[in-house]
Amino acid sequence: MSALKLDGKNLSAISEDSIKNRVADLLKKSINPTLATILVGADPASETYVKMKRNTCARVGMKSIAVELPENTTTEELLDKIQDLNNNENVHGILLQHPVPTQIDERKCFDAIDVKKDVDGVTCLGFGNMSMGIDAYGSCTPAGIIRLIKHYKIDVQGLNAVVVGRSPILGKPMAMMLLNLNATVTICHSRTQNIDTIIKNADLIVGAVGIPKFIKSSWIKKEAIVIDAGYHPEKCGDIDLDGIEDIASAFTPVPGGVGPMTINTLILQTLQSAEKSLAN
Ligand code: NAP
Repeated sequence: MSALKLDGKNLSAISEDSIKNRVADLLKKSINPTLATILVGADPASETYVKMKRNTCARVGMKSIAVELPENTTTEELLDKIQDLNNNENVHGILLQHPVPTQIDERKCFDAIDVKKDVDGVTCLGFGNMSMGIDAYGSCTPAGIIRLIKHYKIDVQGLNAVVVGRSPILGKPMAMMLLNLNATVTICHSRTQNIDTIIKNADLIVGAVGIPKFIKSSWIKKEAIVIDAGYHPEKCGDIDLDGIEDIASAFTPVPGGVGPMTINTLILQTLQSAEKSLAN
């Protein structure tokens, strides 16, 4: 039997239609949902990501404010800018594009974002709340993966889930989200030994390692659920997906799987923050 394709492109398109309607409802109530994007320096990949995020805002009728700071910005200057945006009641979400230039204390700047506006899920407080099951915006890539899994009614309870990668924006929050859904979670990283053996025992695998086709299809157990968060210029992810339809029970394609869900989740969480501001 051929594996179920977890189609993030399709789900994000469906979600965009619903977000558009909710934005229109807010506009009628004089709330203009607004995402502030902060780009420090001129890294071409970061510029592209920010542009894609702003374009998505425009497609759903949401406002975005572009803050562009020079390469030599200091931590204090960036903190001041974040404080301005925290204090601006017309801003509902703040996205600080990662990575920032090395002279900046990125963690300090992430944590300066008001948790109510942390729609990208990057603050320690947001991560802690999410981990403890307290209402919080999740980091967008893992939160998008969870939305995709739920959309296809995949129950991860009791599954042996293996997350390969432990970055603050992806692997760690992914592991906590799966744990909160009652999966039994193993996290692998660069010092893990015998990764192939660990993966061979996994019912669900998340590739978040940043190395093209690092996880081999021969390591994947029959009927496993395969989630590939990676994306590389070669148009492949972190998992070798050749022949995966005949091995897995479900899988995310690359492109068109996890990628579209990330930006969609950012926009959705910005909308939710704007909706909450109406309730206050
Ligand atoms: P990252 O910060 O570079 O983290 C990579 C993780 O993989 C680290 O925890 C690292 O372990 C681990 N790792 C590196 N080499 C390894 C090895 N040989 N064996 C086992 N583990 C190893 O990357 P990231 O930001 O989490 O991104 C991971 C992937 O997701 C990338 O392909 C990226 O392009 C993709 N991504 C996609 C989206 C999207 O929107 N679709 C968003 C973000 C990221 P250590 O901690 O021990 O160093």
